This record gives sequence, C-alpha cells and structure tokens, in this order.
Amino acid sequence: MVQKTTELYRGKAKTVYNTSDENLLVLHFRNDTSAFDGERIEQLDRKGMINNKFNFFIMQKLEQAGIPTQVEALLADDEVLVKKLAMIPVECVVRNYAAGSLVRRLGVTEGIALSPATFELFLKNDALHDPMVNESLAESFGWATAEQLAEMKRLTFKANDVLQALFDDAGMLLVDFKLEFGLFNGQVVLGDEFSPDGCRLWDKATRKKLDKDRFRQGLGGVVEAYEEVANRLGVKLD
Ligand code: ADP
Ligand code: UDP
Repeated sequence: MVQKTTELYRGKAKTVYNTSDENLLVLHFRNDTSAFDGERIEQLDRKGMINNKFNFFIMQKLEQAGIPTQVEALLADDEVLVKKLAMIPVECVVRNYAAGSLVRRLGVTEGIALSPATFELFLKNDALHDPMVNESLAESFGWATAEQLAEMKRLTFKANDVLQALFDDAGMLLVDFKLEFGLFNGQVVLGDEFSPDGCRLWDKATRKKLDKDRFRQGLGGVVEAYEEVANRLGVKLD
C-alpha cells in the first residue's frame, strides 16, 4: 500500500503530497475556491469532496476513450493517487461557445456558438495573470516541443468530443474547459483536474450556469450547482 509522505506543493485548490513510491503523488482536493488568479479565496463546504469524485469519474471516462491520464486510484473522499508528472506549464483551453476572457478580449456576445471549437494556450503564471501564448512561444522558451504541443492539442480535442457528448446526454452544454498535461516516461499524460472549477457548463434548456462562474459572478449556490452536475452524470457522492 502506497503511503502519503511529505507535502510537495500547496496550490490554490489542491495540496500535492509525495508518497512512498517516487512515481506517484497524492492530490488532496481542498474546499478553497479561488478566482481572479487567487485574489479572492473562500472556503466552500463539500467542494473538495465533490471535485475529487467528479474528477475521478471524468478521468476514468477519458481513459476509457484512449486518453492517457494521471489517475491510479481513488483514496478517500478528497484524495486521489496519481502518476507524478513533469508538468508542462501551459494550459490548453477549448471553447464550444463564447464566454469569459474570449468575450472580454474580442467583444463578442456571450453564448455564441464557435464552429469549429477554438483552441488556445495560456502560460500558467498567476503573477502575470496567465497570459495567452502560442505554439511558437512555447517551443522557443522550451515549455514543450512541437510534437508534445501537437499531442496536447489532439488529446484536448478528443476530450472535447467525449465530454461534449457526456454532458449533452445529461442536459448540459460544455461551454469551455481547461486541461493541463505533463510528461511521464516521455509520454504526454493528462494531469491536474477536470471539474466545474475549470470548465463552464450551462443547462441546455435554460442556460443556467452550473460552474465556477457562479462564484466569480457572485451568483450563489456554487456547491449546489456542482452537486447537481455530479448527480446528473451519475457520480456517486455519498
Ligand atoms: P494552482 O497551482 O493553479 O494553484 P492547484 O491548487 O490545483 O493549482 O495545485 C495543483 C498543482 O499540482 C498544480 O500546480 C498542478 O500543475 C500540479 N499537478 C497536478 N497534477 C499533477 C501530477 N499528476 N503530477 C505533478 N503535478 C501535478
Ligand atoms: N480556466 C481555468 N484556470 C485558469 C484559467 C481558465 O480552469 O487559470 C478555465 C475557466 O474555468 C474556463 C476556461 O478555462 O472554463 C476558459 O477560461 P477563460 O480564458 O475564459 O478565463 P476566465 O475568464 O475564466 O478567467
């Protein structure tokens, strides 16, 4: 049995622990919820548990669809055992509908359909507010090779196909989402998390927001919305 050992890193929403196996880590999902690059942080009861179980469920679906993921085993309500990846410091964002920073940047109307879906890269750097970058910059600064970037893009679009269908069946629109990848023995593997903290989900009929925009925009009912998403997908919470 793999044992949790020392704390490796405390992020905004998760704490990462080393384990007795040098190739494995434990991700502990906390209740902390942050917005605006960590400028606003609040504790939301049950969020860590919901996101951990939701993330495990989604990563299993992606693994079954042929996307290599970090996930090894669900350890506890708020903990998952994962492969230790050498993280690539670039976030991959796919959008099926306009929202968030795209609306602010281009002045387009929230909710317009994007066909084909868009693909953007952002540098993971809170101090710089995660600036938008591109493949050329990522290659030149050595964040990832051209081959790794092509694989990240291929896997992100594949995840979009799988997840759009999954959420559609549960009465939701997958508006956009962010993925982070890392390297394990040279292979590009999906890391971090997929949860309502890092995607936008709207009810198909009413377009009610069921994701972290409820927190960002002070709409209330944040955890209730996350729980509703999990329930609609059939994720076992209790
Ligand atoms: P942040 O760093 O943005 O505040 P989190 O609170 O989610 O985010 O912290 C989790 C950290 O762990 C992130 O820096 C993420 O890149 C890193 N991470 C996620 N999954 C893995 C993994 N499988 N192996 C190594 N590091 C990981
Ligand atoms: N996102 C994220 N972490 C980030 C930036 C964005 O998880 O550091 C997610 C965000 O939740 C949304 C998508 O990526 O689902 C696109 O985010 P956007 O560029 O619109 O930025 P935002 O306005 O959400 O900061």
